[in-house]
Amino acid sequence: MCGLEWGRLYETYHKNAYSPVKVWARVKELYADECVRNRRGIFEYVLGGEREPRLLDLRVFESRETKAVYAKQTAAAEAKGVSNCPLCAIGHAANATRIWKFAEMDADHVTAWSKGGATTLDNCQMLCKMHNRAKGNR
Ligand SMILES: [Zn+2]
Repeated sequence: MCGLEWGRLYETYHKNAYSPVKVWARVKELYADECVRNRRGIFEYVLGGEREPRLLDLRVFESRETKAVYAKQTAAAEAKGVSNCPLCAIGHAANATRIWKFAEMDADHVTAWSKGGATTLDNCQMLCKMHNRAKGNR
């Protein structure tokens, strides 16, 4: 907790009504979350109504992880004769059977972090860039 800019935080947030118990509980929860890389941002994130996850510098999938997911997902898709983008695969467009290259895809949290999804392999899927952008809310 030391080194935080308490003055600025106070100026910005003191007009809001908070339950100190709830704030502390949430702060403690986020301290324990391994996806949070910038713990100094936790207080401000909570005080600000949890609208700016960038304050937390959340862990993103590393390239070795996304490559592993890509390889597994692509092998399964090829075996089924469908696109390796799960959202393309359930569509009816020409891309339904398209195998995207690794560079044409992005890693996606199946369950968004903001909804409790962790940055772990079992919560990672590769989506084509178009679908990843369309999904948003990471
Ligand atoms: Zn797609």
